Amino acid sequence: MVSVTEFHCLVQEYVARFTELIFPRPIVCPDCHAVDTLIGHGFYLRQPITPTQVYQVFVKRWYCKACHHTLSLLPSFLLRFRHYLLDVIQLVVVSRFEDGASWAQVSRRCAVEGLPSSRTIRRWCVSFAAHVPAWWAAVQQTLAHHDASSPALDPLGENSGPREAPRALLQAALHLLAWAKTQWTDLADYGWNDRLRFLWHWGASQGLGRLI
Ligand SMILES: [Zn+2]
Repeated sequence: MVSVTEFHCLVQEYVARFTELIFPRPIVCPDCHAVDTLIGHGFYLRQPITPTQVYQVFVKRWYCKACHHTLSLLPSFLLRFRHYLLDVIQLVVVSRFEDGASWAQVSRRCAVEGLPSSRTIRRWCVSFAAHVPAWWAAVQQTLAHHDASSPALDPLGENSGPREAPRALLQAALHLLAWAKTQWTDLADYGWNDRLRFLWHWGASQGLGRLI
């Protein structure tokens, strides 16, 4: 199992200050719900990339003595199953869906010497759009419950085009973040540029599964 975890830093700091990081040990096993059964189980290596760099990120792993499953603490700047850092992917989906950039414009803005490739860029956008409905529903529900005045609650019209729902989710993520900042002081250092990292961390804790 994976627990998306907020270490309050980006990848550079995670790597540079690795020996000082605190890895929270969940009291309850998310698999079998036994209490106080998780013990350290080393780390595994992820090598996330940007167009110009490769990082060596060691991901903490816990092991449950009761059910024998492992639990990884995936830093929130990483997605599951994606090689690129979330920051790189965020720039792509924001360019495409929020700024309305053409594929060529997205590549010019986000790629360095052909990386990520135009195929990869399109794959991220298709995947994000496919996962939007579930995430949109969850964000809407939370905002309606806690912040009924939020402008993000305007329903999507029937005639909305294929870019509308992803754009709406990117906007709603800002409203969700603004609301969350009023609830949790440890989000004070989050800016609008951290919105997908925040959304990913928030949604993973709600059991939403893949985002992109
Ligand atoms: Zn367990």
